[in-house]
Amino acid sequence: MTDVSPLGEQETIPCPLCNGSDADQLFVAQDRLVGKPGTFPVVRCKGCGLVYLNPRPTRRALKEYYPADYYPVPGGRETPEALSVARGLLKRVEAIAPGAKLSILDAGCGTGLFLKLARDRGHDVRGIEPGDAAVNYGRRVYGLPIDHGTLESVDLPENGFDVVTMWHVLEHMPDPVSALRIVCRALKPGGMLLFGVPNFGSMEASLFGRRWFSLDAPRHLVHFDPETARQAVQAAGFESERIVHSPGTAGMVYTLMGDLTGVSLKLRGSAIPDRAYHRIAGVLGWLVWPVCSLTARYGRGGAIEVYARKPAD
Ligand SMILES: [Zn+2]
Repeated sequence: MTDVSPLGEQETIPCPLCNGSDADQLFVAQDRLVGKPGTFPVVRCKGCGLVYLNPRPTRRALKEYYPADYYPVPGGRETPEALSVARGLLKRVEAIAPGAKLSILDAGCGTGLFLKLARDRGHDVRGIEPGDAAVNYGRRVYGLPIDHGTLESVDLPENGFDVVTMWHVLEHMPDPVSALRIVCRALKPGGMLLFGVPNFGSMEASLFGRRWFSLDAPRHLVHFDPETARQAVQAAGFESERIVHSPGTAGMVYTLMGDLTGVSLKLRGSAIPDRAYHRIAGVLGWLVWPVCSLTARYGRGGAIEVYARKPAD
């Protein structure tokens, strides 16, 4: 992996949501996860309120900022955390149409653990994933139909799916509204999109600012809050249904761990041995859970889940 010059391969863009060019700079972020060089101004659009990186690395330069284990591929069994996330997502999807056998597309599916669980329950599944290792794992170990690519590069049927899920994916996309339009076209009339994203309107984001773990510059290109998420789905042709706040406990723990140790939980080879690191993270998780739950209850949760429906006719 070659280093990218902090000054090379950047682009200045209009607002990815409303196309406006008037924005206020909030702060300048750095790559706290991998520690690659570069500074990334985080701005808020004066027109629609979307928060995004500008200027930002070009699509080609961005690839250099993704470490090989950004989406970790299990050596043996899946971790309890990954299983818990996948089970939680399946529960949410099945609650959309209880008892129904659904055709499900998961865009940015990683290794496809969620799709595997959904298939085991009798649903018809398909995945899209840009990460080579994750695609190989999902195909080889789970035998899943995963397309290697992105929403823009893969051929999808029109009106083909009951449900599309995008779990912490949209914030990585250079053009989220056009990705959502592709999803809208691929859904059946009345079909449901469910996506999760970090919440820039959260207590965590306000408290930690440029040190917020979920900022993840420069991999997270856009930062939604409930209002801009609603605008984005409407711009793509959806009827916004509801937005649910989640506690985002993991994001809070990673932020605190990053501050305590100067490295992220995702990075290996830190000064603290892995086992001790995970143990401290586990204890912190219990400690911050009540606070994170309260922030979610009062509409300032660390992440939001957005339910949006394609119009029925
Ligand atoms: Zn805008």
